[in-house]
Amino acid sequence: MARRLRVFLDYDDTITVGGVGDFLIEDLGDGSHLELWRSYMEGRLTLKELDARQYTLIQATEQEMAAYVAKKARVRDGFHELLQFCRSHEVPVAIITGGLENYVKPLLEREGVTGIPVFGNRVRFGGPRGHPVAVEMPNASPRPEFCDYCACCKTFVMARLREHPDEEFVFVGDGSTDFCPSTFARHVFARRRLLRYCRENGVAHTPFETFHEVRAGLARLLGVENP
Ligand SMILES: [Mg+2]
Repeated sequence: MARRLRVFLDYDDTITVGGVGDFLIEDLGDGSHLELWRSYMEGRLTLKELDARQYTLIQATEQEMAAYVAKKARVRDGFHELLQFCRSHEVPVAIITGGLENYVKPLLEREGVTGIPVFGNRVRFGGPRGHPVAVEMPNASPRPEFCDYCACCKTFVMARLREHPDEEFVFVGDGSTDFCPSTFARHVFARRRLLRYCRENGVAHTPFETFHEVRAGLARLLGVENP
């Protein structure tokens, strides 16, 4: 039987070049993110606490934020070709982000990408100015089965999406919230901090800088031609 793969893509600095969440907070925030980021780096805030607060610093309505993302975000080379390859080989793809679904969707719309499920956190817009007022975490892990480190538990999302016992997961990512789901995957495509993590922890991986390398690696895993 043909191998059954399912591909999970991280968003910030994986699908995109650079972190969209970071530039939204830096460009549209009120400047107080630096103190929050310092508190997180010094261990005075957990990642979950940081995420609950940092996105509410964005001074923009939902429409303004979507327009800014559509104008500024860049997609990593080979993204469309990878999606096309997965479609033609019936490999399901999902996007899992430790950031916000709110800033994934405007980019997918701009790129004309449809039918890919997105799992992450969400901001609720409100108040007199219609800016973010709260961060919702619909994909937080149920405890005690999973740990409580990330606002969006990528490993929990992956476990929930498993449809067949023989399905093999492929994870594509770059950052620290990708460490845990990578150990749950059959194969990992890694860059940046995730690449170092895979090397240091013996996780089966392929380094990548563009999605052309990911597509070629997937073709090898499936044993098919890479167009
Ligand atoms: Mg990332």
